[in-house]
Amino acid sequence: CRPTAALLPTAGARVPLVTGGTVDYANLDVAASSPALASVAARVAEALPLYASVHRGAGYLSQVSTALYESARDTVAAFVGARDDDVCVFTRNTTDSLSLLAGCLPADGAVLVLDVEHHADLLPWQQRSRDLCDVLTAAPTVAGTLQLLADALAARRYVLVAVTGASNVTGESLPLRRVADLAHDHGALLLVDGAQLVPHRRFSLAESGADWVAFSGHKLYAPFGTGALVGRRDWLDTGRPYLPGGGAVAQVDVGATTWVAAPHRHEGGSPNVLGAVALAAACDALSAVAPGALEQHERELRGRLVEGLDDVAGVRLLRIWSDSVDPTGVVSFTVDGADPGLVAAYLSAEHGIGVRDGRFCAHPLLARLGVAGGALRASVGVGTTSDDVDRLVAAVARFVTEGPSVEYAVVDGRHQP
Ligand code: PMP
Repeated sequence: CRPTAALLPTAGARVPLVTGGTVDYANLDVAASSPALASVAARVAEALPLYASVHRGAGYLSQVSTALYESARDTVAAFVGARDDDVCVFTRNTTDSLSLLAGCLPADGAVLVLDVEHHADLLPWQQRSRDLCDVLTAAPTVAGTLQLLADALAARRYVLVAVTGASNVTGESLPLRRVADLAHDHGALLLVDGAQLVPHRRFSLAESGADWVAFSGHKLYAPFGTGALVGRRDWLDTGRPYLPGGGAVAQVDVGATTWVAAPHRHEGGSPNVLGAVALAAACDALSAVAPGALEQHERELRGRLVEGLDDVAGVRLLRIWSDSVDPTGVVSFTVDGADPGLVAAYLSAEHGIGVRDGRFCAHPLLARLGVAGGALRASVGVGTTSDDVDRLVAAVARFVTEGPSVEYAVVDGRHQP
């Protein structure tokens, strides 16, 4: 059940098994980083020979590179439904985008977040000052959590609410339009951490009412090194330049600097042209798929994964909210009595299956869900097949009934056969 062959990741890999032989790699760690699409690789290969200094060169190739870079910006902005006056700043990844926005917050402006966030959407706000960042413990229902947000917004003046678009632990979301309305009703703006949402659901700034969205290229079927922050101009036009340097300024005198407006204000130095081209190619590829097809593909795989794992004795699936709807294809779970690191090592070494284990850069959430020691996470995407999912379910079931067939030891913090 793959939506379209044109989207297939560039290459499948054969991986060795500790028990002998090789097997097709089942990549169920797409939420961490997703393999680049074939069309992304092709677009990068086309752009590679044209690659020259952008913005500052007069030569023909500089002009071509500048045009590629700026048109990539337009493509990426359109992909997330940017409004006419929104701006798209290229960054290295979501972490970078969120830190950039944190540097543009009005002084003394307080930020409201939930304890379900990835650290990237918590630490930049806390780093300014813990007094200026309130972390709410989410209620066990979406309805209850919206009420908590409303109460908090009524009790203190916030300039920003920062929420995950989809949890990197459970794939669950809050209704973003409702959160945006709540924030706006109380004079606050809304940032959506779109790292796990944008690659898996059609997201629109205009339709959701969110003010900014941050996301990463390497989770969106493009290579590492490029991300974006897209949204309202005002804070970005006047905020602290994120990467001071060449290109971010209008005039530098020894005693004073005049900065240009966003996006260039925050993109000092020679930019990652090929990264931008790759990210735009991935956006184009996903936009070309029939509306709803990718979502449906991932929904079916998630359903299969949840159903399969639920049937394995001793497996517990993590959930933040009992009433959330349409989570993305990210499923975290524990196996009773088993160290998640051992299970992950077993899945890799004995079955050629890649999952994530640990605390998923969401320590507060995992602690509150009672799994402070960590869990396992399987995640699906464009290239995932039902066979990948079935292999995982069968392998977890086998771990539970038979255990590993070789000894594992912890070396440098990781289980190794
Ligand atoms: N937010 C969420 C929800 C994520 O899943 C991740 C990556 N795991 C990030 C932020 C950070 O992304 P990056 O590592 O690409 O900066």
